[in-house]
Amino acid sequence: MSFADLGLSDELLKVVIDAGYTEPTPIQASTIPSVLMMRDIIGIAQTGTGKTASFVLPMIDILAHGRSRARMPRSLILEPTRELAAQVAENFEKYGANHKLSMALLIGGVSMGDQVKALEKGVDVLIATPGRLMDLFQRGNILLTGCSMLVIDEADRMLDMGFIPDIEEICAKLPSQRQTLLFSATMPPPIKKLADKFLDNPRIIEV
Ligand code: AMP
Repeated sequence: MSFADLGLSDELLKVVIDAGYTEPTPIQASTIPSVLMMRDIIGIAQTGTGKTASFVLPMIDILAHGRSRARMPRSLILEPTRELAAQVAENFEKYGANHKLSMALLIGGVSMGDQVKALEKGVDVLIATPGRLMDLFQRGNILLTGCSMLVIDEADRMLDMGFIPDIEEICAKLPSQRQTLLFSATMPPPIKKLADKFLDNPRIIEV
């Protein structure tokens, strides 16, 4: 399987070559075409498998070629920790460097004022930990009604950290017509329940 077989645009294929990737990892080979076909996905994969690129690359393609609703975030990526959120943001900046997409990293330990300013300017993508996102929401700084793509990453760690009620609340604020991708290293019953509730006919990919 080559990256050229996955349905990514020529711009994204160039990004992949520039990153030095010669072939897709198994999670990328299975996930990228389904994301581009707008399917919901349950990806059972560990960190280190190339999981981040499996959702960030097609997300950039979808955002770059879709219509932009001014000032409204169109995608939301939820991560359990600040460190993971920052890593995904780095990946997004690296892969999306030539696309005119804007991103806000919403994590604790950083001034809320700067985050609010970024949101006021308008962003395409939010990369957030559930706690900070809920804080900003409660202060009225975020509208998620234009957010048609949601990634719940490291769902089993979210469970360990007690974030499932926050995630349920966040899901309820997004449009019901959306694409949802859930990644988890394991599928304990509460994560299965979450997926049953918030994903629509997901393709299950296990690597
Ligand atoms: P992740 O599992 O997303 O944390 O990725 C683990 C590491 O694999 C990161 O350093 C990526 O830059 C790298 N990586 C992702 N996709 C590929 C690929 N197709 N070929 C080689 N390295 C990759």
